[in-house]
Amino acid sequence: MPESSPCYVEVVVPVPLFQAFDYRVPEGIDPQSLMPGMRVWVQFGPRRVLGVINQVRATTLLEPAKVRPFTELVDDTPALDEAMLNLLRWAAQYYCHPLGEVLHHALPAALRQGKPAHFPIQTLWRVTTSGRSTPADSLKGIRQQQLLAELQHMPNGLTQEALRTLEYSSQTLSSLEKRELIEKIEREQRPGKHQGKLLAEVPHSLSTAQQQVLEAIASQLDGFHVHLLDGVTGSGKTEVYLQLIEQVLRQGKQVLVLVPEIGLTPQTLRRFRHRFQVNVAIMHSGMNDTERLHAWLEAREASACILIGTRSALMAPMPNLGLIVIDEEHDASFKQQEGFRYHARDLAIVRAQRAQVPVLLGSATPSLESLHNALRQHYRYHRLDERAGNAIAPTIERLDIRKLPLQDGFSEPLLARMQAHLEAGQQVLVFLNRRGFAPSLHCPSCGWLAECEFCDARMTLHKRSRSLNCHHCDHMTPIPLTCPECHQPGLEPVGQGTERGEDSLQQHFPETPVIRIDRDTVRGKTRMETLLEPVHKGEPCILVGTQMLAKGHHFPNVTLVAIIDADQGLFSADFRGMERMAQLLVQVAGRAGRADKAGEVILQTAHADHPLIETLCDEGYRAFAQQELISREHVGLPPWQPMALLRADHQRPNVALNWLQEIRDTLTQHLVSEQRNDCQLAGPLPASMERRHDRYRALLHLYGDNRKALHYQLHWLCALIELNPVPGGLRWSLDVDPADTF
Ligand code: ADP
Ligand code: ZN
Ligand code: ZN
Repeated sequence: MPESSPCYVEVVVPVPLFQAFDYRVPEGIDPQSLMPGMRVWVQFGPRRVLGVINQVRATTLLEPAKVRPFTELVDDTPALDEAMLNLLRWAAQYYCHPLGEVLHHALPAALRQGKPAHFPIQTLWRVTTSGRSTPADSLKGIRQQQLLAELQHMPNGLTQEALRTLEYSSQTLSSLEKRELIEKIEREQRPGKHQGKLLAEVPHSLSTAQQQVLEAIASQLDGFHVHLLDGVTGSGKTEVYLQLIEQVLRQGKQVLVLVPEIGLTPQTLRRFRHRFQVNVAIMHSGMNDTERLHAWLEAREASACILIGTRSALMAPMPNLGLIVIDEEHDASFKQQEGFRYHARDLAIVRAQRAQVPVLLGSATPSLESLHNALRQHYRYHRLDERAGNAIAPTIERLDIRKLPLQDGFSEPLLARMQAHLEAGQQVLVFLNRRGFAPSLHCPSCGWLAECEFCDARMTLHKRSRSLNCHHCDHMTPIPLTCPECHQPGLEPVGQGTERGEDSLQQHFPETPVIRIDRDTVRGKTRMETLLEPVHKGEPCILVGTQMLAKGHHFPNVTLVAIIDADQGLFSADFRGMERMAQLLVQVAGRAGRADKAGEVILQTAHADHPLIETLCDEGYRAFAQQELISREHVGLPPWQPMALLRADHQRPNVALNWLQEIRDTLTQHLVSEQRNDCQLAGPLPASMERRHDRYRALLHLYGDNRKALHYQLHWLCALIELNPVPGGLRWSLDVDPADTF
């Protein structure tokens, strides 16, 4: 072997250490065939772990005799291509997270376990000859009809996983199979590239406003630009995405579409699949490992022309990327809240920049970060102020309840309005953003309140499951019959949750179906679509639910949206509390009047004259956002100043707080000695719910006048923590651009 040929590899492994480890290339493997991004099994201490080659090198800084060979090479081509590897290296730096963990996170679970990066066997369903000629409406059940129609539409078949996402049950599938209308095929070969017609349906002709936006973006498809599409709900943003995507597909390129966790509804998917004949891959948390691997491979092999997915789909390699679309870009689910705490929107922008492709952010309620960038002309700003078709955008009407008697949280004028809409044959949506029956249980004799044993929080009363549940740590207890303190009977629920809303509306409107949508009813087999069936049929009904109802759904017959108890958002400990509340209210309000019928939105509030509520209701989201931006500027918060959070927790009180105080002292000393005045620290403070899950939590805020200053401070901080042992049992994490700051 010539001396210059590489014979060491630097490997990163999924451990919380900021360093890489050298291994020797074992006999029998040609070092020339090794490339960064390939997976290898290595002996790491007593464990065998799966690592990723970060570099192939001729030399090592260690004593060559002590460098062990790696155990096994897994890939023959890199699992992570160079572009993705470089993006992830950048992200590891930016988010101050160990590269080994970042790369591990970026791989689908099957690849993390060392499975081969090849297409697995896949189950497909397609129509048989007799299924093709059977009219769908000759079948009995509505789901059977829909299924047959769906498959008739897709002569090449749909995967089992796609059908599951569309929420067809295995009974529905097997009943059509028994009648030989559809059949199951197993296929192994990799999906072919798309050939033939691109479109499966004729697109809408765009309104003038939509056309202008489309042209502005489509004229700059070569090269990196960030576009913010700020359009009211129902203004036809999705239609603009679809027609833009069409143009990119015509250039033979791939498109990545990111949607919030809750936004990947069957309705959304159906829209993409009905528009395009090309292969659309999906990736979301409800899929199993094999399905995720499959979608990831399809993206990497460019056999998927479109990849639609939640947050982590961002990390699928796409060699032929031509456009990234981020729908509901303001949504908090784009931020990963544990481990590698990246923001998928922000990282998508970096990805687009490196790939020199455009990125389109869309929302009816843009984040203040994106609005700020648009207003300062870092992003191109496009607006759609009117609803598509005949629909009319509703305004939010404030209903002051300070002097009104309430019946289980509902005021008389609101109930009357609901009645009027129902009598007119329409549907009503009641937004009540708390699960359970009541947020607490109270003893009127001694004032006792049910509190969690492990958290500084109240227990929520759940009547259906007959328990008190903590929504912060999952602790559950039976409902006490008498007060645990004074032993009197007569404990009373305090406040309203969705269960109570459902009961009380059902009593008030005994003839009308009341459908509750929250994490308790949508859990398990009874899925959202099944629950929503009567709503889609269009008969009068009342929908009661949490924010699960706020996004993605299209309810053409809902003409009244009632918002109950939104006031909690006004007093949030988080500086983004107001922004979140405003976004949620506007999104919920957007469910009203999406078709031909005008909609009404009523906000029942005890703070009708709060300035931000006033602005939001009377002048709309943009006016609200501008007002918020100004107040953030005054106090130096994001988006004006970048920030990070150092969080810590421990089983004993004060340990985390004291540790953070030491960090702060050392950091401050360092900054003074370096004469840096572009970095600031605030805290440490106990978290706003200090004890959670039996651990005491505290945080330290870090600010910088600019990103460079902040990152100077952060990298110094990481080095400091790595070099100094942390107290036993203490857990810490660093969160750059945190979404939650309490
Ligand atoms: P958004 O994504 O802004 O909420 P959508 O694209 O979902 O808006 O459009 C709302 C509704 O209007 C959908 O039912 C869509 O099919 C319809 N629509 C959108 N654009 C047009 C158009 N140019 N002409 C007719 N209908 C349209
Ligand atoms: Zn009592
Ligand atoms: Zn708890």
